[in-house]
Amino acid sequence: MPIDPPETKIVDTHKVACDGGEGALGHPRVWLHIPEETGFIECGYCDAKYVLRGHEKLAEETDNPGLKA
Ligand SMILES: [Zn+2]
Repeated sequence: MPIDPPETKIVDTHKVACDGGEGALGHPRVWLHIPEETGFIECGYCDAKYVLRGHEKLAEETDNPGLKA
């Protein structure tokens, strides 16, 4: 069964609610708080990535596996 890549959503607020959307990735709604330092957060349920608007580049760089030691 194919695995969809985690979805990235650009948001305007630090506080976002995620319920995984409809379908297989659906999960109980949780509130996520985006840290100012990183500018993004990943949902622990469905791996959706929420990126604060204006931090798209930072999030991409931080997500680079090569930078995680
Ligand atoms: Zn989620």
